[in-house]
Amino acid sequence: MISFDLALPRKVIFGSGRADELAALLPMLGRRVLLCTGSDPARHRGLLGDVEPVAVVPVVREPTVEDVRAATEQARAAGADAVVAIGGGSPIDLGKVVAALLGNGTDPLDHLEIVGKGVPPAQPSVPFVAVPTTAGTGSEATANAPLRSPEEGVKTSIRSPHMLPAVALVDPLLTLGCPPAVTASSGFDALTQCLEPYVSPKANPATDAVAVEGLRRGARSLRRAYERGDDREAREDMALCSFFGGVALANAKLGAVHGLAGVVGGTVDAPHGATCAALLAPVFEANVAALRERDPDAPALRRYTEVARLLTGRGDATVDDGVAWLHETVAALSVPRLGAVGLAPEQYPDVAEKAARASSMQGNPVKLTEEELLAVLRAAS
Ligand SMILES: [Zn+2]
Repeated sequence: MISFDLALPRKVIFGSGRADELAALLPMLGRRVLLCTGSDPARHRGLLGDVEPVAVVPVVREPTVEDVRAATEQARAAGADAVVAIGGGSPIDLGKVVAALLGNGTDPLDHLEIVGKGVPPAQPSVPFVAVPTTAGTGSEATANAPLRSPEEGVKTSIRSPHMLPAVALVDPLLTLGCPPAVTASSGFDALTQCLEPYVSPKANPATDAVAVEGLRRGARSLRRAYERGDDREAREDMALCSFFGGVALANAKLGAVHGLAGVVGGTVDAPHGATCAALLAPVFEANVAALRERDPDAPALRRYTEVARLLTGRGDATVDDGVAWLHETVAALSVPRLGAVGLAPEQYPDVAEKAARASSMQGNPVKLTEEELLAVLRAAS
């Protein structure tokens, strides 16, 4: 019997050129807008039209607890009653948390899992609009935001259904200027976020539908978007892959790639997407091997074959073909390995131990042992 819940942003606007609709939306959401952007706040300022933000927060790294506190203080002092984030995953994650803290009058540590009290925000966020300018995190469609706690060496989430954006405005044209390295790493994040929910025990027919479509479009267009940044069709595919990945993960969870990537991201300042790219093929292989050994009738094994077909675009592809496609594509797009993003082999045991307990491991189709996670890290280094 089929039974599921599906959590989505209140409104989704998708289409090339549709970022122009942002200015007209804002008066319906709030009068005093906090704007979160990437490192250059002027870049997309024109999208707000005549709306003058009461404060602007440039976000230059994956946000920490301190970054969020500082931005929230700024927002409170300015009397912000709505938050707009225009940028990659980091500004959107930060904006999403600030909108929740403004709506709840709280501190990040009241809500943060593991390092904080872990109590989900109970009150609605102030209206939050997410406008992604990269195709990767799918943060415009999710109900959580990861924050780094450098002193604890982990990245954990604040999570609540109230954190789903009021509006997700996805305009693929905003990603045209995304440089190749960012296109590659964020694109692999998007692919991973379609793949992991598809093989998750929490998958349902709705998440399958978006995950399959995301994998198909992402696989056919990632390399093209990397090689020809101005290819609008490829950018459109990647923006859909990213958005669908967000919908899929928000409703069917993630697996061992993200379980490990969350700990790696808390340990070293590595780009999340590059970490996912390095881990994706080794986790694929480890999961398939563990399933064959411990649960050979698991539906996830058939799903891995389907993933291989979607990635390669070939109806007769095997699991091994899928793994080979991942290795080839990671190499062709020059995505750095774990060693190159600053993780030292001495840190692997600690990462494997923490990852085995990570909440983002919930959607892995088989429980991997610490030794298996360690082997994955070695294979990705
Ligand atoms: Zn991710």
